[in-house]
Amino acid sequence: MRSISVFGSTGSIGESTFDLLMRQGGAARYRTVALTGGRNVARLAEQARALKAELAVIAEARLLADLRDALAGSGTECAAGPMAVAEAAERPAEWIMSGIVGAAGLAPGFRALAHGTVLALANKESLVTAGPLLMARARKHGATILPVDSEHSAVFQALLGENLATVEHITITASGGAFRDWPMERLAAATVAEASCHPNWAMGQRITIDSASMFNKALEVIEAKEFFGIDPDRVEVLVHPESLVHALVGFRDGGMIAHLGAPDMRHAIGYALNWPDRAHLPVARLDLARIGSLTFRNPDPARYPALGLAREVMRIGGLAGAAFNAAKETALDAFIVGRIRFTDMAAVVEQVLDRLSATGGLGKAPGSIDMVLDIDGQARRIAAETMQ
Ligand code: NAD
Ligand code: MG
Repeated sequence: MRSISVFGSTGSIGESTFDLLMRQGGAARYRTVALTGGRNVARLAEQARALKAELAVIAEARLLADLRDALAGSGTECAAGPMAVAEAAERPAEWIMSGIVGAAGLAPGFRALAHGTVLALANKESLVTAGPLLMARARKHGATILPVDSEHSAVFQALLGENLATVEHITITASGGAFRDWPMERLAAATVAEASCHPNWAMGQRITIDSASMFNKALEVIEAKEFFGIDPDRVEVLVHPESLVHALVGFRDGGMIAHLGAPDMRHAIGYALNWPDRAHLPVARLDLARIGSLTFRNPDPARYPALGLAREVMRIGGLAGAAFNAAKETALDAFIVGRIRFTDMAAVVEQVLDRLSATGGLGKAPGSIDMVLDIDGQARRIAAETMQ
């Protein structure tokens, strides 16, 4: 029996992970050490019963009694609160999904690396905010981080057996999001509902809005730089509206290896779950003759200012990624509740980066998770001030 834990089990990545675990044998094949969710007690309890989880943790402390009720008689231990989520990561497991959204996913994933096993990393924010810390901890404990972001899983697969020194560029594709064909002057009036409709992928609301603004791609460029340890100038973005080619790696002999697949996260999750093997996965097969053509174009920097900000973040290095992500999360929260316009998000993030770079603190290498969380807190406060 392989021991597993899923952080963010009730979210979009978590549900796809749960689906694969159940299809691949469920409780008969996996010993589920811990499942965690944010607020959805009923769903977390259902999953915990189905997988006979040893521990279920709900991030909102006030929901502990509800969780206990929902799991009465199941034998699953219950806990609640952010500390309990992080502590769940202390329990050893051979395969751990880091599927919490946002900076909240950093601490559990970081702790889980100490087991020296496999961390399937969907939480890209961990690498953006604390990439060097995460990679060093994985090395120290002999843990393997497998990227679950579809583009990064694609790059990982394209690089198997290759020498990174021969790579000229890593190109990750972007759908262009909900507003890729909107006239620019309409963007300021875009609503939350409009931004929450992705043309190709079904994902959590936050990453879907981040796809419309390309803040998601901005995070992914930084994620690629941190994970593959490649010069930022070699990480490129190509708009590919069909979302079938997830990434391309170009080598110095002029050859390129592309990874194609249906836009279904169960491919990247299933790849990480079964790595280094490849299991049969329930994802649609591409009929390329029927699809006929694949199109690509360069992203328009004026439409997607987030991409330019990501370049600036990588130029500064150090703690800039943590400030960038925290400012983005705060601006996104404000957009979701209707306090700022869609196009204001990039402006808020830019102001936060400007203010924090002026203090000179951003370029410092992240020496500890506390340093990362400290700059995260500062960036959130400044972002809130700029929006007053
Ligand atoms: P989601 O919002 O659907 O789910 C997030 C999960 O985290 C839920 O279980 C939620 O309850 C939990 N959560 C939220 N806030 C929390 C907190 N403060 N403490 C503890 N738990 C909390 O998000 P998602 O779309 O599944 O994305 C999860 C991560 O995977 C993100 O980092 C995202 O960028 C990345 N990712 C997602 C997709 C996708 O297809 N959804 C693709 C690539 C990468
Ligand atoms: Mg992605």
